[in-house]
Amino acid sequence: MKKKAILVCTECLSRNYTVLKNARMNTERLELRKYCKHCKKHTLHRETK
Ligand SMILES: [Zn+2]
Repeated sequence: MKKKAILVCTECLSRNYTVLKNARMNTERLELRKYCKHCKKHTLHRETK
């Protein structure tokens, strides 16, 4: 079973990515370094609801 999560840039707070995440792993909050087109660089993106 998969659950949709939204990743937001922690610097400008724009919602840049959606990911499907395994529902069994829902205790931990995702944090990924991804490219943000608003910041024009790689930033830390964090899962939000
Ligand atoms: Zn950004």
